[in-house]
Amino acid sequence: MSKLIYLDNAATTKVHPEVVEAMLPYFQEDYGNPSSPYSFASKSKKAVEDARAVIADFIGAKPNEIYFTGGGSESDNWALKATAFAYRNKGNHIITSKIEHHAILHTCEYLEKNGFEVTYLDVDEDGVIRLDDLKQAIRPTTILISVMFANNEIGTIEPIQEIGEIAKEHGILFHTDAVQAYGHLPINVDELHIDMLSASAHKINGPKGIGIMYLRNSVKIGSLLHGGAQERSRRAGTHNVPGIVGFGKATQIARETMAERNQYETELRDYLIHQILDMVPYARLNGHPTKRLSNNANISFEFIEGESLLILLDQKGICASSGSACTSGSLDPSHVLLAIGLPHEKAHGSLRMTLSEDITREDIDFVIENVKANVERLRSMSPLYEDFVKKNQ
Ligand SMILES: *Cc1c(COP(=O)(O)O)cnc(C)c1O
Repeated sequence: MSKLIYLDNAATTKVHPEVVEAMLPYFQEDYGNPSSPYSFASKSKKAVEDARAVIADFIGAKPNEIYFTGGGSESDNWALKATAFAYRNKGNHIITSKIEHHAILHTCEYLEKNGFEVTYLDVDEDGVIRLDDLKQAIRPTTILISVMFANNEIGTIEPIQEIGEIAKEHGILFHTDAVQAYGHLPINVDELHIDMLSASAHKINGPKGIGIMYLRNSVKIGSLLHGGAQERSRRAGTHNVPGIVGFGKATQIARETMAERNQYETELRDYLIHQILDMVPYARLNGHPTKRLSNNANISFEFIEGESLLILLDQKGICASSGSACTSGSLDPSHVLLAIGLPHEKAHGSLRMTLSEDITREDIDFVIENVKANVERLRSMSPLYEDFVKKNQ
C-alpha cells in the first residue's frame, strides 16, 4: 500500500504538532476552570483570553467580540436563529445563497417553518452571487444577509466587501460563514462591513469541536446557550480550554504562514488542474478559475460516477471527496454543483481535491496519473461513453 495522500483538507485537517504541544498542559497540569476564582485557575483563564486576543487581532475585531463555540455549524446556527429571534419585530426576511453549507441552509429551512421568509440567491456559472440580485432581493422586512466567504466545495470566493457595503447601506445585518476563508485569506471585519462571522479550528490545523462567532458589539442578539456566565452569558458552558488554546495557536501559525502557503498551494493547485484538464478529455473545472481558495481543485468528469472514482483512488491511498463530505452517503448530487448549472450527470462525476502545504509535487504527479488512469478505466466500463464515442467517430 502506497503512502497516504490526503487531499480532503476542506473536510478537516491534521492538527499541527505545535498546536498539540500548546494544548497538552491544559489537560493535565493547568486543568483549572477559567471561571474559578483561585489563582490555580488563573492560568487557564489567561490562556483563554490570550487565544481570544490572537483571534480578534487576526480579523480586526475587539477581543470582547469573539465568542467561543463548538465549531462552525454552531456559530452558523447561532447567527441565524438569534438574529431572527431578536429582529422579528423589525422583519421576517433573510437573504442567503444557494451554495451555502448545510449549517446555513438547513437552519434557514428551520426558520422558514417558523414564520420566516428566506431568499436563496442564485450564483453564476463560477459560483459567484450577483450583486444586482442581492439588491433586488432586499425588502423593508429584510433583517439579515448571510453569504459565505468562500465555498467549501468549489472554492469560489464571494464579493464579501461589496455585500457588506450593500448590507450597511440598507441597515441590514451581515453574517458570513468564513469557515473556509479563515486562515487562508486576509479578513478585516471593519473593512468588509461584517457584523457576524463563523470560523472553525479544525479547518486550519486546529482541533475539532471548537469555533468562534465574531459578533460586532453594536449588534444585540440573544444567547445561544443559557446557563453560566461564560462568554458574556451568551454561550454558557465550561470553556473548552485545550480547544481554545489550540485554536489560538492554529490561528497564529496560519497568520504567519498564510502568504507563503497560499503561493505554494496556488502553484500546485494550478498544476494539478491544468494537467488533468490537458490529459483527460470531457473534464471541466468547477468554481471560479482565479477567485478561488488556493487549495481547492474541483473537477467534473463526464460519463463517470465521482463515488466510483473515489473508491479507486482510495485503493491508491488518495483521500479526496465528491460533492461534500456532509452529503456523502446520500445519492443526491451536490446542491452547489447544481447551483452553478451542472446537469445531474456532470454533478455526479465530480472530484474535489483540497491540498495542504504537506503535499508535494511528486504527490500531485501520482494523483494526476491515478486520476487519469481511473477515469479511463471507469469510462471503459461505461455504456454511455461507448455510445458517445461511436457517435462522435
Ligand atoms: C466545515 C464547514 C462548516 C462546519 O464547521 P464545523 O466546525 O465542522 O461544524 C461550516 N461551513 C463551512 C463552509 C465549512 O466548510
